[in-house]
Amino acid sequence: MNNSNLIFDRSFVDGKWIAIGASKFDIVNPANGQKIKSVNDGGVAISEKAIGVAFEAFQGWKKTTAKFRATLLEKWHNLILDNTEGLAEIMTLECGKPLKESKGEVSYGAAFVKWFAEEGKRTYGDVIPPHTENRRLVVIKQAVGVVGAITPWNFPLAMITRKVAPALAAGCTVVLRPAEETPLTALAIAHLASIAGFPPGVFNVIIGKDASAMGKVLCESEKVKKISFTGSTRVGHLLMSQSASTLKKLSLELGGNAPFIVFEDANIDMAVEGTIVSKFRNSGQTCVCVNRVIVHEKIYEKFSQKLKKAISKLKVGNGMEEEVNIGPLINKDALKKVNDFVEDAILKGGEVLLGGKRIGECFFEPTLISNANLEMNFSKEEIFGPIIPLYKFSNDEEAIKMANNTVYGLASYFFSENVTRCWRVAEALEYGMVGINEGLISTELAPFGGIKFSGQGREGSKYGMDDYLDIKYMCFGNII
Ligand code: ADP
Repeated sequence: MNNSNLIFDRSFVDGKWIAIGASKFDIVNPANGQKIKSVNDGGVAISEKAIGVAFEAFQGWKKTTAKFRATLLEKWHNLILDNTEGLAEIMTLECGKPLKESKGEVSYGAAFVKWFAEEGKRTYGDVIPPHTENRRLVVIKQAVGVVGAITPWNFPLAMITRKVAPALAAGCTVVLRPAEETPLTALAIAHLASIAGFPPGVFNVIIGKDASAMGKVLCESEKVKKISFTGSTRVGHLLMSQSASTLKKLSLELGGNAPFIVFEDANIDMAVEGTIVSKFRNSGQTCVCVNRVIVHEKIYEKFSQKLKKAISKLKVGNGMEEEVNIGPLINKDALKKVNDFVEDAILKGGEVLLGGKRIGECFFEPTLISNANLEMNFSKEEIFGPIIPLYKFSNDEEAIKMANNTVYGLASYFFSENVTRCWRVAEALEYGMVGINEGLISTELAPFGGIKFSGQGREGSKYGMDDYLDIKYMCFGNII
């Protein structure tokens, strides 16, 4: 193991490891149910303390230069990469994803830190040609203040750096509450941030089991100026209403229901490969995973047979084992939800072409279901598990209508070799992101985010800074 120097068991606030009270809770390995570590439950008390500390730290941090902040972010980036093995092991232990995916997440997550180190130096303002001779109009951008970040368990590292790096680069300070399932990765990267030299109080990580009480404190505090959340649409709604009294800025990365359309002129082998990569990452537990595969009737049979063959090659098991492609689901509730989806689909006429069953207490077989229809529960809900439902269509309008027939609007995908169709369909899809002949679209260089019930705001890219900056207009008068 390469991680013993990276494991911590309490909150990181004001540059110190802090336990409040004696209450603890266990972090368990979803692949076998075994305890990894007990951590201190800081609850509301640590949340309030961290907010006060971050507010004080902001008064100094906001005055530092972007260039100085970039040097610290660069060091943090390098330290994260230097600790790839240890961080990846912690991630696989606490969230179950295969080790090679965890290593991929370390470099993906670190890339946001490097990107925003650079981008922070480019938060340019404007000089506006004035409307009268004696005035000069200038626009600058300033850090919004203390940011409350709330992150999920499915990307224990990258969902944090996507928020914390632009916030710190902009001159904000941060109170982060990672998911109670995966706090160890968060604490490990906080430790690395402290080695990189971020001053005490600039980046705080609060650990506790009671998500709703801790979230409420963050939302209702007047000292917190912004909430950045990744998680379910249900909790997104709640955070938005809780933030109303303080009129907070909000960035919300919520659920998805990604369609994946395969047109009759698609390269079928590429489409099969695209389906596999975008469906089975993290055992299907990502918000951009394909939820509905919508296939033209002329190629439906051929595509489904090729897809079945490709899925049957995937190996399920403990993510620490080499060659495993699909790890456990995060917990028993997740397993039950996925199993319920399959039972519901069978009752409503679905045909299981492959898989469809649990394996022991922690795993679920990669599953292919034919004859899917809009009555089935997974047509409306996010699956978050290794199931692919196959739907059939006969013309473009029908495919677009089916794809848009959801409250969600995060990622969408389609395969076609016809450039006119590609433009037309990409423009017609009501989604924040479209993969065209591509199943893996996420990169720190491009804006990640959704519309409709999938949220608001963008992470990564030049747009990812905007969520952490206020625009200030300055009007200079009497210039003669
Ligand atoms: P998921 O299905 O990914 O677990 P959730 O929205 O339930 O989605 O959780 C995402 C993050 O939000 C986790 O860190 C979780 O602990 C946290 N969370 C859950 N409920 C609340 C809440 N009421 N207020 C604040 N955070 C919450």
